[in-house]
Amino acid sequence: MSQIKYFSTNHKASEVTFGEALLKGLAPDKGLYMPNAIPAFTKAELNALKGKQYYEIAATVFSKFLGDEVPYEDLLAMTKDAYNFDVPLEKVVDRKYIMRLDQGPTASFKDFAGRMMGRMMQYFLKKQNVHKLILTATSGDTGSAMAHAFYGLNNINIAVLFPEKEVSDRQRRQMTTLQKNVQIIAINGKFDDAQAMVKQAFSDPDLECLNFTSANSINIGRLIPQIVYYIYAYTQLRNQSSDELEQVVFCVPSGNFGDMMGCVLATKMGLPVKRILVATNENDEFEKLMKTHKYSKIEPSKNCLSSAMNVGHPSNLARLIELYGGNMDEKGTILKEPDFAAMDAMFYAQSVSDDDTRKTITQAWNDYHVVLEPHGAVGWKCVEDYIGNEKPDANQLLVSLETAHPAKFPQAIIDAIGVDPELPASLSGLEGKEEHFDRIDGKYPAFKEYLDKKYGWRK
Ligand SMILES: *Cc1c(COP(=O)(O)O)cnc(C)c1O
Repeated sequence: MSQIKYFSTNHKASEVTFGEALLKGLAPDKGLYMPNAIPAFTKAELNALKGKQYYEIAATVFSKFLGDEVPYEDLLAMTKDAYNFDVPLEKVVDRKYIMRLDQGPTASFKDFAGRMMGRMMQYFLKKQNVHKLILTATSGDTGSAMAHAFYGLNNINIAVLFPEKEVSDRQRRQMTTLQKNVQIIAINGKFDDAQAMVKQAFSDPDLECLNFTSANSINIGRLIPQIVYYIYAYTQLRNQSSDELEQVVFCVPSGNFGDMMGCVLATKMGLPVKRILVATNENDEFEKLMKTHKYSKIEPSKNCLSSAMNVGHPSNLARLIELYGGNMDEKGTILKEPDFAAMDAMFYAQSVSDDDTRKTITQAWNDYHVVLEPHGAVGWKCVEDYIGNEKPDANQLLVSLETAHPAKFPQAIIDAIGVDPELPASLSGLEGKEEHFDRIDGKYPAFKEYLDKKYGWRK
């Protein structure tokens, strides 16, 4: 197998290795990195994955994309360290399952991508004997997922900026009780101010020696880990008595489409996926694109109950268009049409209202005793409509993703079913822990001064 390289979706930057793409994040031409070939599983290889542990499947998937860049044993050590929690597959009704991706340290599916990206960055930085500082702004959840993902790693520090008044108590405690290489900074301002401050620091030539990097969702190092759970779910749930590969349908509650791209890549690797159901909240730009074959982003995005999916222009859409033979620039303009016929055959896109999201939480509880939170409920509503409209065989294997723990959205659950969901171990006991964070003014000069004192960029 020849070594896979990574190209930019804007096609102006040169191809790089995985390690380079991982440490760069965005390509220099502002495009997104994609593998120049998609490694495939043979039927025999897929059969051989039956009964394997999650971290073993993860290492196998990574080794296909990384080739000789990282030896398999090193990958296995990283995946074992990253994936030290369960991935429950909960049966709802005849061969229909919910995959709960909410057992990681921040009870969000972002733990899957963040933890592995952190370990890989550490691996490459150690090898080069280089140190990096990750800067990120958060409105709550992403910051804690990234702080936990990088917590305790070597050669990496992470600084998270958050608007003090816009973050819940629990979200703040999830970040401020960590310490070690994690620095949490509250600003007197809004999320947009925090984001602007981070952006300005990235482009400030005075700060170049701090060797910043970002950990945002467009990094290829966050995408590849999101392939693994589709393959894992399939190997666990497929008909085990036959070597014939039965087909599976996945439903992905989506915002920036990183998660859904993981499913698309798994499919291109040979996983026998029949349809991918793409469930979005009232931000319905993808459903419209699939209906009209014309794209327009939603600006500003709508605020919905499933708040982590309030995205009016998914940052990974350019990757999807690229994979289907088209081209989209960083502004969201389609420069070359993708193969819409092939996309129509694979994707079932549906936007779900907040009203239907609430009703679905109630109904899933009443009908099946399954507790869903708003993101997972958007997915399940899409599943129900797909089954109603397309009437797949009653035995069709289907897996719908639950991307956060219900206890992260207690009010929505109490309102819908009158039950206060129990906190998972990862989120409980935070009140008893000491908090550590600094406060600065929500203006750039205060942030620059802070970085100077803390990380000594003038020295
Ligand atoms: C980020 C997030 C999503 C959306 O995932 P994308 O990869 O951006 O589509 C869905 N649910 C939860 C809980 C999230 O945090």
